[in-house]
Amino acid sequence: MPSTPTPTILSFEKARHLVEEHAATLHPRGKELVELLDSPGQILAEPVFADRNFPPFPRATRDGYAVRAADLKTLPATLVVIAEIKAGATENASLKIEPGEAAAIMTGAPAPPGCDAVVMVEYTSRDGDRVTITKSIAAGNNIVPVASEAKRGERLLSPGVRLDHATIAVAASAGRSRLLVYSKPRVAVLATGDELVDIDVPLAANQIRNSNTYSLAVQIQSAGGEPVLLPIAPDEPERLHELIADGFDADLLLLSGGVSMGKYDLVEQVLAQFQAEFFFTGAQIQPGRPVVFGRIPWGTGTPARGGASAPSGHKYFFGLPGNPVSTMVTFELFARPLLEALAGMTPRKLVFLHAKLKSEINTKTGLKRFLPAILSGEFEQAEVELLRWQGSGDIAATAKANCYIVIPPDRERFAPGEWVPILML
Ligand code: AMP
Ligand code: MG
Repeated sequence: MPSTPTPTILSFEKARHLVEEHAATLHPRGKELVELLDSPGQILAEPVFADRNFPPFPRATRDGYAVRAADLKTLPATLVVIAEIKAGATENASLKIEPGEAAAIMTGAPAPPGCDAVVMVEYTSRDGDRVTITKSIAAGNNIVPVASEAKRGERLLSPGVRLDHATIAVAASAGRSRLLVYSKPRVAVLATGDELVDIDVPLAANQIRNSNTYSLAVQIQSAGGEPVLLPIAPDEPERLHELIADGFDADLLLLSGGVSMGKYDLVEQVLAQFQAEFFFTGAQIQPGRPVVFGRIPWGTGTPARGGASAPSGHKYFFGLPGNPVSTMVTFELFARPLLEALAGMTPRKLVFLHAKLKSEINTKTGLKRFLPAILSGEFEQAEVELLRWQGSGDIAATAKANCYIVIPPDRERFAPGEWVPILML
């Protein structure tokens, strides 16, 4: 039997970059057409082009009067109101603003030829067909020129973007009621551990409910994948082997538990039976130090069984440490970018924000730490503090967190008021 791989423990950044490099070689499985309102969270698989100029006419951005700016050099200026133009009005071909003239105009209406600015109604007073204006204006003000946002035929959205309210609004404005999106990758979830039981069965004092399958299923969905939940695997090589083989039928396999140094941590050893290549078997982080990343050969004449073919010639897996918070954090740090690549999403870097620390932090050096925290305050006064927790098994505390404070491996202490990096959930 192949034995456990030689340990490869990487810094957080090296491990993350390695995952990103592999992710960059992956492709989604296929494409499908979906209704616009079924598309949020999916990844766009086609470009969306402007079907007309944006805006299609010079658009007034204020209620007021369309004028020639040159007419307002001496103030107050009185102009003759020759028309009223509301949004949706059909074009009046003969309408042109001549010197000394103005047209009443509403927000969103086409500014007529001859005018070059719109004066806000607040700076005007109307008397019959005359308007008196008390404020000068620069040419171009309060008019968005035709095609200045996008020219007809210009690309508005690119493949790889995750569809959200704003991108869906762009598609809607380009007249697209359906969009081509990438098919969701199937991600197998395999929780391992003799102590684990399903959540809806009676359990003994020494048993633990399997929560990781559920947190992972939700994280997979939020990263654009479709979870495939496998039964709990015991810490026993034959059954574990069978279930791992089932897991490789999916596009990506996520295991939880069984990757530490214990006698019954068998995941790596069993993966080695599939001719696994291990890229790392640990990262200098907390929680989640024993995280494992690798792949097995897959395709014509390669192991396991039939099932879907992987265009890359490989199937990837992550062995996520079983402590519930470690599972959640290592998914976000390492599994998410690979899954997003399989989902067709344009790769993005992990970016940490900074927030002002509310109360002191003391910790040990040596690992990069991602500690559950609460970001609070109001408006521009955001502040962050650590949650009190009992370590990476403490899901109850973590469920109260809304971010993680990121502690670099060389820092022991942070004082209140310092700016600390945070990772948003
Ligand atoms: P392991 O990584 O297998 O050493 O497990 C570490 C800790 O996480 C142990 O306390 C396990 O009982 C717990 N654990 C492992 N898997 C799960 C799971 N699927 N759901 C909840 N807790 C788990
Ligand atoms: Mg275990």
